[in-house]
Amino acid sequence: MTTQNDQNVESLLKQIRRLGRELAVAQDRQVYYENAADQNQNLLNTRIQELEKAREALNRRGLELAQSEKRFQSLADAAFEAILIHDKEVILDVNDNALALYGYPRDQFINMKLLSLVHPDSQHSVVQLFSVNIKDDTYLETLNVRADGSVFSVDMHSKGMNLDEGDIIHVTAVRDVTERKQMIDELKRLASTDVLTSVNNRRNFLELGSNELQRAQRYAHPLTVMMLDIDHFKMINDNYGHDAGDEALKAFACACMSALRNTDILGRLGGEEFAVILPETPAHSAVDVAERIRATVELLKVRRGKQVINMTVSIGLTGLQDEDRSLDLLLKRADQALYQAKSLGRNRFIIA
Ligand code: GH3
Ligand code: MG
Ligand code: MG
Repeated sequence: MTTQNDQNVESLLKQIRRLGRELAVAQDRQVYYENAADQNQNLLNTRIQELEKAREALNRRGLELAQSEKRFQSLADAAFEAILIHDKEVILDVNDNALALYGYPRDQFINMKLLSLVHPDSQHSVVQLFSVNIKDDTYLETLNVRADGSVFSVDMHSKGMNLDEGDIIHVTAVRDVTERKQMIDELKRLASTDVLTSVNNRRNFLELGSNELQRAQRYAHPLTVMMLDIDHFKMINDNYGHDAGDEALKAFACACMSALRNTDILGRLGGEEFAVILPETPAHSAVDVAERIRATVELLKVRRGKQVINMTVSIGLTGLQDEDRSLDLLLKRADQALYQAKSLGRNRFIIA
């Protein structure tokens, strides 16, 4: 028979056994957690070491990058040209020469639209050039605009670079060629004009005249050719000297220009012989022009100190006819008319 006491002891023993089991489980757990904590600590340490190494590598890379950027900046600044680094729309970086060339401060220049540097007349070709993702070297001659609004001619030499997966970045070297262009224009002008009188020289007159003749023939438009020769010019030289003769030639050319339209072409064929092409003008209308030139030259007074030089001119003119094949033919016919004007007493015009 179990007594109440026995039952209590039994219940206590059960509790003690349960607590013992729970204690064992707790101890197991503690060991497990302690092991896990150790493992985590190890992992953490390894991760920290890795991160330290990565940070060192990053610092090294950053330093290298800064050095490389410095080297690139020095290179760009030492370059003769202005250098623009840009994508197809926006300026990303520039060298010192670019600041000087365009006149913008650096902070205003960076992130500016590329097209704000380009004159409207050149914008189409610039957009075309950089809208294509090509890495080849490209050259372009354009008109650019400075911060103060002044316009200048540049040569752009550009190279594309594919830095990321994205759009191409362009490095464009810009050279101001205004002076070179002005020199070329001046050389062209010198090659095409007569040094003394500044009218077209023979070569240029014949070239411009042939173009006008072709145009007139293509559209069946009228055209007149005039030959002019100063009368007794040798006497001007003999009486007043060669320099005075030169003055007279210059004054004669000016007088002719004043009697002509902008579209008429005046040329000095040589010596005191000149010729005029009158586009869109039939011979019967050109008669008025010939008379105007004759009268202007007759009234012209070339003053040299107390001396006054007068002169007259003889003119032969002829209109374009269907059978005319070349300018040479028209010039010959006008020359025959001029010869007639001379033999009829000079200071007159004759139509052939
Ligand atoms: P004509 O009425 O028959 O045309 O007589 P002309 O005296 O005008 O013609 P000619 O051909 O006998 O003489 C032309 C002169 O023009 C001779 C030449 O010395 C002179 N001459 C040609 N070129 C120049 C020049 O560049 N400067 C000066 N001062 N004289 C020139
Ligand atoms: Mg003459
Ligand atoms: Mg002559």
